[in-house]
Amino acid sequence: RPMRTLRVKMVLLGASGVGKSSLALRFCKDEFRRTSPTVGCAYLTQAVHLREVTLRFEIWDTAGEEKYHSVTPLYYRGAHAALLVYDISKRDTFIRAQVWLRELEKQYFSGSTVLWLVGNKGDLEQHRQVSAQEGQSLANDRGLFFTETSALSGDQVEQLLLGVAHRVCECVGAQ
Ligand code: GDP
Repeated sequence: RPMRTLRVKMVLLGASGVGKSSLALRFCKDEFRRTSPTVGCAYLTQAVHLREVTLRFEIWDTAGEEKYHSVTPLYYRGAHAALLVYDISKRDTFIRAQVWLRELEKQYFSGSTVLWLVGNKGDLEQHRQVSAQEGQSLANDRGLFFTETSALSGDQVEQLLLGVAHRVCECVGAQ
């Protein structure tokens, strides 16, 4: 039986410096660089193989537009999944993620987009300003999935991508 292939557009949203480019690099190359440059307006690709389906992820990273609040709806239009990333050691980035969420809900939200709240920099436990409980409650309240990751150590990054892959398959009825 032929394998089915799905193209999946996944966008990364969140304040500047939360680790979006670092997560993209982890997803695609399983590596971490201290001074990871922003990947740019293009995207990285990564294949995820599930039992019945192969997902070809196109992982979109902003080219720093978030600094100027100039990320346009074009960026996230047609996305199968959106990761709302914040830094657990910076409360303002958690607030910013909620602003993004409202924007998505207002301008764009379609029930078929998998929205995932991601608390990155989980390795910075001593500097934590947002508890895992807070992240989880926001996710529960707004119907999001939630994971804490560390692009630095790689903790939970693969699990996150697999989780998104499964949920996207459920959404499009591919499993
Ligand atoms: P972006 O602006 O959201 O794309 O963030 P970057 O990926 O460029 O990361 C911003 C800074 O945070 C860089 O110095 C990264 O090395 C650092 N960084 C990214 N992810 C992590 C992480 O999980 N833990 C720690 N400690 N630092 C991280």
